[in-house]
Amino acid sequence: MFLAHPQNTLSEKFISLPKAELHLHLEGSIQPLTASALGAAHGIAICEEEVRQRYAYRDFSEFIETFKWVTSLLRGPRDYALILRDLGEQLLAQHIVYTELTLSVGVMLLRGQNVQANFAALFEASKPFLSRGLRFNFIFDAVRQFGAGAAMKVVDCAKQCNSQSIVAFGIGGDELSIPANEFRAVYDHAAAIGLHRSMHAGEIGGPQEIRDAIELLGVERIGHGIAAIHDPALMDLLAERRIPLEVCPQSNIRTGALARQLHLPSATIQQHPLPRLFQHGIPILLGSDDPAMFETDLLSEFQNARNMGISEQQLTRLAANSFEHAFLNSRDREMLQRPRQL
Ligand SMILES: [Zn+2]
Repeated sequence: MFLAHPQNTLSEKFISLPKAELHLHLEGSIQPLTASALGAAHGIAICEEEVRQRYAYRDFSEFIETFKWVTSLLRGPRDYALILRDLGEQLLAQHIVYTELTLSVGVMLLRGQNVQANFAALFEASKPFLSRGLRFNFIFDAVRQFGAGAAMKVVDCAKQCNSQSIVAFGIGGDELSIPANEFRAVYDHAAAIGLHRSMHAGEIGGPQEIRDAIELLGVERIGHGIAAIHDPALMDLLAERRIPLEVCPQSNIRTGALARQLHLPSATIQQHPLPRLFQHGIPILLGSDDPAMFETDLLSEFQNARNMGISEQQLTRLAANSFEHAFLNSRDREMLQRPRQL
């Protein structure tokens, strides 16, 4: 996607730097052509153009509706394996060597699917990428508005799948639906079975959502977190405790999250607070979030950051952050970082 972009100002050296992407939803990576093929496999005629139209939402609730629609095309292990293979090719083309891929297990359970079978197919599909220089790990994600009981089942599924490649548990969806404290037992359980903890917070909600995620739930990485700009003390806390924000600029524009945070009818990429958060010393991890649904990818997000005035040297810092804050043990991290030092 990016490599064909007309406004590429990134150097070849930067583009070819090995990278990690940590905020990436598998279900948001389904390109229109693939969505159309999935539909055909299930007897639903959808052309690419129709998928593109569905991907052109105007606010967060329309985005959630589209997410529901596209995931309705994922009916079993074969579908999941297909979209992972597609995504793997897109990541390799961007020199991404490591990803922590978020799986919407909450949605699989809602649809009555066999999570273990889906995961087994995904894991198998990810294996051939390892020899090509791309390693996948997985984050099991619950849907906030489905409640704590459903979220607990997602943690249970992670336990049943019993795989070292499931590295974390997270919650996404509508952060305004249910207060964070209702998920305490869920996060405690996730930690008890050895999972790292992440959460979408401060995307459309306020800074208190970020504080609650950290203080009440022990969350180690915050998805989005752009609401931190409203709370200087929280910005200090994030910087001092080295708690990263997984920032996805294009997503914030397309879902209307940034406009909402700025109390404006619409917002542009130049108004994004990424430079402020970065200059405050908060570890920033760039992500594409749902690349197909937002017509972006990781390299495009680096270009977005460059367009906000972040220098290429600083972009290299951002790229390094994603390795430093990956949910990996130290030996694996060292192995992955090696190519960067060549
Ligand atoms: Zn996300």
